Amino acid sequence: MYYEFEIGNLFLIMGVIAVCKWLEDRLNTIRLTSVMVDTTIATILFGMLVFLHTEVVTFKNYSAGAVSFDWVFLNIQIILYVYLAVTVSSRIGMAFLTGTLILFYWERGFFSDWRAWLTFIFVLVGSLLICRYAEWLLRQFWRIWLATLIVSVAVWYTVAMTMVNDTFADWAINFLMFNIQFLIVNAFNIRLRRDYNREMMLANQVSHDELTGLKNFRAFSTELNTFYTAFQEQSQSFVLITMDIDHFKHINDTFGHLVGNDVLQQTARVLAHLIDQEGAPNQAYRTGGEEFSLLMPVKNRDEAWLKDFCQRIQQTIRQQQMIVNQQAVQWTVSIGCDDVIQDDDSYLEVYRRADKDLYHSKENGRNMITIRGESVQVG
Ligand code: GH3
Ligand code: MG
Ligand code: MG
Repeated sequence: MYYEFEIGNLFLIMGVIAVCKWLEDRLNTIRLTSVMVDTTIATILFGMLVFLHTEVVTFKNYSAGAVSFDWVFLNIQIILYVYLAVTVSSRIGMAFLTGTLILFYWERGFFSDWRAWLTFIFVLVGSLLICRYAEWLLRQFWRIWLATLIVSVAVWYTVAMTMVNDTFADWAINFLMFNIQFLIVNAFNIRLRRDYNREMMLANQVSHDELTGLKNFRAFSTELNTFYTAFQEQSQSFVLITMDIDHFKHINDTFGHLVGNDVLQQTARVLAHLIDQEGAPNQAYRTGGEEFSLLMPVKNRDEAWLKDFCQRIQQTIRQQQMIVNQQAVQWTVSIGCDDVIQDDDSYLEVYRRADKDLYHSKENGRNMITIRGESVQVG
């Protein structure tokens, strides 16, 4: 037997998992979509599984009768396959799981036996379920362990049909090794996931407002700067829409701060929804107590769109209603909107102008829109 390989495999698999987590972190930082991240990770793991598979084939060719190599590499292949299932969550991940399994069965010639077809379906459904319920399964060790064992038994059964030389002792030892490996790998993976999630949560807290869930002023500053740099370097123009709830203090004084908070949350929901409808990434911010801002690229958008969009914000918010003590709470916003220009010395210039526009709306009776210093007819 070649147990020393199992120890080597253990470190290999932990290395692969660490690299995948590191890469996932990097890819998320550069804001790749989750499907792209999944595809990259799945490709690496798929490549790794194919590599392991070629190792098995090579070793078998070099040393006649070395059936146990199958076992040694099979364990790590199953563990990596389960890791693939719990890591990639999109449809892409499911496609990779299916592809990997087909390749595994096809290359070993299993499809010629009808029993292997049954185990194929069983393993495929099992791994897709593991993929679908990964979060829940990983919460308790016994859940993921049991799910993996159920899937593994079907794989072992299929492989055993061709492994006639192995004794019961070989099976027992390898089963034990498999469990030890799985325990260590799973603990390592969970530890990494926990650290990563904690880091994500903290990063999220730093850039988001707790009450509304929108991004906060800190994120606004950073992203305004990024937009400004993109404008300077690549002429990507953008508009900044700022708004402030009218007579908000009156709502607080009349209905209480908790109702005031509900008004802020409802306003945030409306803004996030309107931005979503525009197909833009979420660039809605709570920039102050009852002040909100939106950053939007103007690619393929004209003047009429801007006016229409500001009016839609104004109208949608005016139509919101909350019933408190059988009284209807309604509110309006004043809006200021401006865009970045070539003469701007810093990213703050456009903010300063939009702020001025906003105060123009306030001074002219509130529930108003001002675009580049000009009042817009209320819709
Ligand atoms: P204007 O039309 O001129 O904007 O009048 P306003 O009453 O909206 O503006 P003002 O600046 O006088 O009052 C803003 C109020 O917003 C004061 C502050 O207590 C309240 N506020 C700020 N943050 C929060 C919050 O998180 N929750 C609640 N309920 N109130 C808040
Ligand atoms: Mg206000
Ligand atoms: Mg204010």
